[in-house]
Amino acid sequence: MPQTSDTFSKPLLKWFKQHGRHDLPWQHPREPYRVWLSEIMLQQTQVATVIPYFERFIAEFKNIKALAAASEDEVLHLWTGLGYYARARNLHKAAQTMVEQHGGHFPQNYEDILALPGIGPSTAAAILAQAFDQPHAILDGNVKRVLTRYHAISGWPGEKKIENQLWEIARQHTPDHSAADYTQAIMDLGATVCSRNKPACDTCPLQSNCMANNQGNPGDYPTPKKRSALPIKQTTMLILQNRRGEVLLQQRPAQGIWGKLWSLPEINEADETAEQISQQRFGCKVVSSSKLDPFRHTFSHFHLDIQPLICKVSTHTQSVMDSDSLVWYKCEPNNSKASQYKRGLPGPVKKLLDNLLETTT
Ligand code: SF4
Repeated sequence: MPQTSDTFSKPLLKWFKQHGRHDLPWQHPREPYRVWLSEIMLQQTQVATVIPYFERFIAEFKNIKALAAASEDEVLHLWTGLGYYARARNLHKAAQTMVEQHGGHFPQNYEDILALPGIGPSTAAAILAQAFDQPHAILDGNVKRVLTRYHAISGWPGEKKIENQLWEIARQHTPDHSAADYTQAIMDLGATVCSRNKPACDTCPLQSNCMANNQGNPGDYPTPKKRSALPIKQTTMLILQNRRGEVLLQQRPAQGIWGKLWSLPEINEADETAEQISQQRFGCKVVSSSKLDPFRHTFSHFHLDIQPLICKVSTHTQSVMDSDSLVWYKCEPNNSKASQYKRGLPGPVKKLLDNLLETTT
């Protein structure tokens, strides 16, 4: 591949000056804690979705030390609805590691950053480039899309051979100056011009040398992963509501989906009834019950069809409060103000509780 700064990084940086994103909340100030938080939140998630989460998170945890001192529940609470909760748990652990090993400061070299929980090679490089202006190549989803199109590289980018090839190309394109701007520029180009479904090649600064554009087939890149249809699982979620309007939540085990989040009890209606489970597990007597509309939640590896079943119950509160993994949760608009309500909830559970709140207020 010929050396490409004239045809790649220079036009890209010029384009960025005029058309790049310069007003994202983590760019002002562009300091390591904020850059790190944004990079983690932006994994698998769009900028528009991330912005309000980022602002709430930064308002609550102003720096690494504040995040390290928080409880895991408080961190998961602020992540509720953003998905991929391992990101939040790793963020919390990484903050604690930085307090223990780096005096509460962000390390400034690649190996130390890569050693932190939840940070891979591309994220470590993006932090160094954006927060410390160090020239490191990045290779996130947007960059992979731009590079596979620009060089017409076939093969799924998750395949080791293709990924190594892309890393090599990404390094060759990365200039040894303007690291922060170049990193933001290539991410912006992938997000706003070289988009997944409708690349706007006519406005792209790389158009004249882009092989996919010249071949007329940008949509063929990157090669998608071969996948079979996702399996479908079913569950019934019990919304056990006591006379005070509170709903019973149960903390999930650390391993598996929604690890350590507070969720609704689930039953398999083919084997057990809500009445049996409520009585046996939670000491609640079901007074009345009705089914709500079912809906589907899709994970990366399966669909989950959820049948919500709301049950009004009478209960001996003590029997439930005896367990650390059960809580009566009050659904109220300002529930984040009281510490006992600062709990991480899976997205579908949050949706059900929000709907419940709407119908009862
Ligand atoms: S010319 Fe089109 S396909 Fe090529 S990098 Fe630009 S937007 Fe992507």
